[in-house]
Amino acid sequence: MSESGQPSANTMSQAWMQSYEQPGPDLFSKVHVFASLAAQERKTGLLCFHQQLLSAHAPQTLMLEGSTLQQRKMIMLGSNSYLGLTADPRVIEASVAAARKYGYGAGSVPLYAGTTDLHVELERRLAQWYRCEAAIIFPTGYAANTGTISALLRPGDVAVNDLFDHASIYDGCRLSGATTHSFAHRNMRHLKRILSTVAGKDHGTLVITDGVFSMEGDVAPLDEILNLAREYGARVMLDDAHALGIIGPNGRGTAELYGVEGQVDVTMGTLSKCLGGIGACVAGSSELVEYLRFYARSYFFSASIPPPAVAGALAALDILQNEPHLRQDLWQSVRYMAEGLKAIGFDIGQTQSAIIPVIIGDEDKLKAILLELLEAGIFMNYVAFPAVPKQRCRLRMSMMSGHKRQDLDYVLETLGRLGRKHGILQ
Ligand code: PMP
Repeated sequence: MSESGQPSANTMSQAWMQSYEQPGPDLFSKVHVFASLAAQERKTGLLCFHQQLLSAHAPQTLMLEGSTLQQRKMIMLGSNSYLGLTADPRVIEASVAAARKYGYGAGSVPLYAGTTDLHVELERRLAQWYRCEAAIIFPTGYAANTGTISALLRPGDVAVNDLFDHASIYDGCRLSGATTHSFAHRNMRHLKRILSTVAGKDHGTLVITDGVFSMEGDVAPLDEILNLAREYGARVMLDDAHALGIIGPNGRGTAELYGVEGQVDVTMGTLSKCLGGIGACVAGSSELVEYLRFYARSYFFSASIPPPAVAGALAALDILQNEPHLRQDLWQSVRYMAEGLKAIGFDIGQTQSAIIPVIIGDEDKLKAILLELLEAGIFMNYVAFPAVPKQRCRLRMSMMSGHKRQDLDYVLETLGRLGRKHGILQ
């Protein structure tokens, strides 16, 4: 208990972990404990999630500032719309035209009445993009991973995941009933050791890796993973959510970066990040795609993405292919920010993408810094345990093309000041 007689945050979070993890007669006890915890956090203004946006994602975005409820233009460093395509007038125009023609929803699952000519065209374009025979569109990246993995693996099969793979990969593995192993992050010696013990002739093995890791911003050694998988007779699945549009000379992702396009068995790419909308594709052989249409349950049993989102993705893909200057501008900002943060003395891990982690390492300081950043008109994401280990809790910056140099300088100056104030920097 704290001096005020209220349970302290620590006592409450212990109660929370217990009620969350252990079964009990009242299923809602965890709901109740969490609600009290969240209410206490909100009262002190420290709940850093669910800020409301009042305009489209852009380098400066109008938001409702959490503590004052004032409208405020914020420097946006928390968007996955890395190239700003969410708000590109051509993408919006294509979406509006599709809404007029097809309506705002798809009206059905894909195999019944939920496939328009636009969906077919987008699948064709995405297959071409990934240098694969075919592609299939899922409602979200989460659904693509869970649906594909659970369609491919059976109890008795084996999944081997990078420890830092996205939650939807782990959820897909759980759903499949396959035995799941994790190798230390990007550690090929560990992957080899696991494959040498688990790969076998009586079951299938799938090595699954993110291309760009969403909390670290670093890139998987895909070429080495493919070699090891071949050596041990395993298949490879790549989640290229944060790589599409960013990584590789033409932005075609991790396989392009390593010169191994067309060699990955299963590639998942989201339409919700660089392409700025919603949905995801899985690209691979025609046989694989045909199978997934009938056996990936998150595809078969779920409504198709709306035609305006499909038309928007097609327009965004055109821009991605024809306007490399957007990617060049993004990379200039990434380098400027990453070098600036390192020069001030921040630990930013091993980032190789548009995601830059700024390690704070103390959750109370992290919350305080985030709150002060919001007050200073800077928005970025808060990442703490269990998403990352407590001592690696961090701010997570996502860069966008179109960020102004003076805004980036202001962010660097503010972060430097707060880092020194809270004892993160000397
Ligand atoms: N994979 C990775 C690596 C991701 O970061 C995300 C989104 N956070 C997803 C999959 C899920 O994608 P979506 O948001 O489209 O469901």
